[in-house]
Amino acid sequence: MMRVDFHVHSKYSIDTLTEPKAIAEKAARLGMVFACTDHDTIDGHAEFRKLKARFIPGEEVGTDAGDVIGLYVSESIPRKTPIGETMDLIHGQGGLVYLPHMFDRSRHGTGGHPDAAKADVIEAFNAHCLQASFNEKAKEFAEKNNKPMAAGSDSHALWEFGTTYTEVPDFDIESPKELLKALGKSRIVGVRAPFYARGPGFVTKFFKKLAHRAKKK
Ligand SMILES: [Zn+2]
Ligand SMILES: [Zn+2]
Repeated sequence: MMRVDFHVHSKYSIDTLTEPKAIAEKAARLGMVFACTDHDTIDGHAEFRKLKARFIPGEEVGTDAGDVIGLYVSESIPRKTPIGETMDLIHGQGGLVYLPHMFDRSRHGTGGHPDAAKADVIEAFNAHCLQASFNEKAKEFAEKNNKPMAAGSDSHALWEFGTTYTEVPDFDIESPKELLKALGKSRIVGVRAPFYARGPGFVTKFFKKLAHRAKKK
């Protein structure tokens, strides 16, 4: 059996400070695999590769109609790309479209957007959803549309990583096809993050934006 967290942020995200090294070490210690899904960038992939981490290279794209994660992407897709085009670009790279926190409107869920039917995997559990009903709705959507389900911690801090994962039979993590097959026999293990987990992200984003602006001047 393998445990996979499909939704993890590192310092390459605007709202996160976690060093890739710390994530890689914790993952190795727990025997976990994770997807690197930083906001609108794939810059973390190179560092995780250098660390020899067992990870799935991804990106969380803030599309015009909400957040869409591409798993197995090798070229970054810019923020605000239309949702349908984003999904086509992910598939064009041989990747998988993973829809995070679909029904969490406060965090850019794609909700019932018609293109959601094109997704390959539905995040049926996101540890950052403040209301359990958001996850229940995502699960219902997956069941109704016959989509495999997975779990993501959406962790923006190291302490959040490790308690939410998807248990799947062993598979070759380099292969999107194998992953889909493995998800057919998945079990979701999720622990909802406390409300304060969402606080530090806002503060980090504020200061990172300030630093970014200062650099531009
Ligand atoms: Zn998101
Ligand atoms: Zn996220």
